[in-house]
Amino acid sequence: MKSELLTAMREAGGYVSGGELSKKLGVSRTAVWKGMQKLKEEGYRIAAVPNKGYFLTESPDILNADELASLRKTAWAGKEIIYFEVTDSTNIQAKRLAEEGAPHGTLIVAGRQESGRGRRGRFWESPEGSGIFMTIVLRPDFYPGQASMLTIVAAMAVAKAIRTSLSLPAQIKWPNDIILNGKKICGILTEMNTDIDTIHYVVIGIGINVSNESFEGEAAAIATSLFRESGAEVSRSALIEAVWEQFESYYESFCGAGDLSEIQEEYNDYLVNKDRQVRILDPKEPFCGTAKGIAENGELIVETEHGVRRVSSGEVSVRGIYGYV
Ligand code: ATP
Repeated sequence: MKSELLTAMREAGGYVSGGELSKKLGVSRTAVWKGMQKLKEEGYRIAAVPNKGYFLTESPDILNADELASLRKTAWAGKEIIYFEVTDSTNIQAKRLAEEGAPHGTLIVAGRQESGRGRRGRFWESPEGSGIFMTIVLRPDFYPGQASMLTIVAAMAVAKAIRTSLSLPAQIKWPNDIILNGKKICGILTEMNTDIDTIHYVVIGIGINVSNESFEGEAAAIATSLFRESGAEVSRSALIEAVWEQFESYYESFCGAGDLSEIQEEYNDYLVNKDRQVRILDPKEPFCGTAKGIAENGELIVETEHGVRRVSSGEVSVRGIYGYV
């Protein structure tokens, strides 16, 4: 009911009467009034004027399932939302729910993670209220070999959402770190359960630094947040919605083409490493070269002294010659 009230007030864009709301939602006026009290307690600013009705004047940075549902414009991404105030990691929860049969598009969101992880089991700093910690469950019907490209689809969605909804020049460090002013604002961890020719499910975890003022340990040298870079007070819920809207559109292009050919050019425009010297930290054989962009399958094309090499993500990390990018 709270999410329906929020949606109705947002659609009205001004005052909407208690009578109209009770008719629309099929509940009594008293129920509407009680719902409004609850929303106010949660921090929404709602003006209530006799003979005019209710007006949602301000939505602070509130994150919960009702708020997310009331903002949702996507067709399938986040159709089911599971919200945890605190959890171990949204990827762990997503994998558990996928094993239990959660449908394609189920979205898990947390206010805080106690054991957020990046690639190779590395720690992901996930303090309360400061970031977006979310994971989507996908059940694609393409081949397992194509699934690793989804991480690039997700990176495009985050970069584009930040660019369009916040007007900030987000870039991508291959394959899927989102960079703002040379520092990392978002990490993505894609995991999957497949057998030889079938994908059972894929989970894509996305951590975005929104209002962090500082970072600890290893992250201190490379991380930043949207607030630190722009001073902007960002609504986490609105940004989550923007990410999944973009994701649906890129996912459709990807599924239609069967590879990244329709996304490749835009991705390369966002690539922070493009035409720059990079170090490829391949555990077997590190090397340097100039990054030229991605191929249709997401591999990074690198020009070296000994010819062109194509790098697939897996265990590899990319760094700039003098620093992180
Ligand atoms: P790279 O290839 O650049 O090493 P990665 O994709 O392997 O990146 P991730 O899995 O995205 O790395 O993230 C793990 C790393 O990110 C950790 O080693 C840590 O230093 C750093 N980190 C941890 N928390 C955060 C955070 N909140 N914001 C930015 N960076 C973080």
